[in-house]
Amino acid sequence: MDKNLISILGAGESGVGAAILAQQKGFEVFVSDFGNIKEKYKQKLKNNNIPYEEGKHTKEKILASKEVIKSPGIPDKVALVREIKQQGIPIVDEIEFAARYTDAKIIAITGSNGKTTTTMLTHHLLKTGNFPVGLAGNIGYSFAEQVATQEHTYYVLELSSFQLDNIHLFQPSVAVLLNITPDHMDRYDYKLENYVNSKLRIIRNQSGGNDFIYNCEDENLLEALGRTKVRSRVHPIKKGNFDGRFLTLGESRFDTQTFCLKGEHNMFNATCAIQAAKIVGVTDEIIQKGLDTFVNVPHRLEVVTEINGVQYTNDSKATNVDATYYALKAQTKSIVWIVGGTDKGNDYSPILPLVEEKVKAIICLGKDNSVLQETFSPLVKIIEETFSAEEAVQRAEIYAETGDVVLLSPACASFDLFNNYEQRGDLFRKAVLELKKRKENPD
Ligand code: ADP
Repeated sequence: MDKNLISILGAGESGVGAAILAQQKGFEVFVSDFGNIKEKYKQKLKNNNIPYEEGKHTKEKILASKEVIKSPGIPDKVALVREIKQQGIPIVDEIEFAARYTDAKIIAITGSNGKTTTTMLTHHLLKTGNFPVGLAGNIGYSFAEQVATQEHTYYVLELSSFQLDNIHLFQPSVAVLLNITPDHMDRYDYKLENYVNSKLRIIRNQSGGNDFIYNCEDENLLEALGRTKVRSRVHPIKKGNFDGRFLTLGESRFDTQTFCLKGEHNMFNATCAIQAAKIVGVTDEIIQKGLDTFVNVPHRLEVVTEINGVQYTNDSKATNVDATYYALKAQTKSIVWIVGGTDKGNDYSPILPLVEEKVKAIICLGKDNSVLQETFSPLVKIIEETFSAEEAVQRAEIYAETGDVVLLSPACASFDLFNNYEQRGDLFRKAVLELKKRKENPD
């Protein structure tokens, strides 16, 4: 074994960030990616003189490492990962590695849905209070690279279950667990318990001086907490603290009239963000200012525009049934619903009553729409198939009347027709804005 060698599997945002930090800390670093490395990451590795390979893994070199930092995207079943484990070489996540080199207070946020929204809002609340705060993790910015290049006193980290799988000593000051609904079951041997255990790793190293904010109405979470020793100070959060305008948390009250997030689920996310901000010392006055100035993340119940009194909303990030449940629930208008894509084994039963009550027409947007047709045809008379965002918008317009909403909330992944959910949402937005232009300038 080479006592000073750290190998990094996967040269994406987290891997390249980890390489930069490891090199800065005096390790010999080797980056290995089985696929092609994106040009911007190759350039970063070259600029830092970090050796790398792509299209293969040189096993002998990797197995000589004292530690391996694995990209969260690489599953444990991969042969090389198994072999690394068999040899007793520790595997860590970039988050675990980076946390060793910072004393910053960390607010770590996980859950099946709402992570990005809550992370962005928490970061914004701290920023509004001029806290020196970094934003990192699953959200697309490497934590390790920030630790290497721009040390902050606080970090707000979005963490996926895949990242949590390889944390060992990571101890966030504040942990937030929003909800647990089945997702990514293929990575967890199709056992919900494994996925739940992964999420709970967020508190495994917390002590009495740390805080744990959690959804005390989530059944999967409550069941798991019943068999877990929690040492942290707990802050259970419920949904019913919103009266349509004011959001209450203990003695504090916040006006949401100009707050851009809407819907019960977002009021819950906001309550968690507010609680986290209060714990680190952000005042109510600053929190109110932060709520008033927050700008929503795209693709999450993003209101694109209104055309002839019809609202067009892009919720392309709703890639599972639970997210779509809240999107449908948040609507006060009659819905023309654009749905479909790659079905991850969806169970639509939780949303059937909402569909029956609120949806007037369904526009399927996916390669194979048979499950949607079969499930929803007893409830909704109009069901059409489309195969592009443009076509979906054109068809939706036909059924939408003044006062309705056209809602893209697919409940499915996007990979059958699109590169990713961002592209799906961007093409939807583009089609809507083009439709608007045509309506305003008919020639
Ligand atoms: P994540 O980062 O966990 O995927 P996002 O904030 O990106 O979460 O939101 C993903 C989808 O889930 C969006 O469609 C959003 O409307 C929905 N969503 C957001 N918060 C919640 C919540 N607390 N419960 C259920 N669905 C939610």
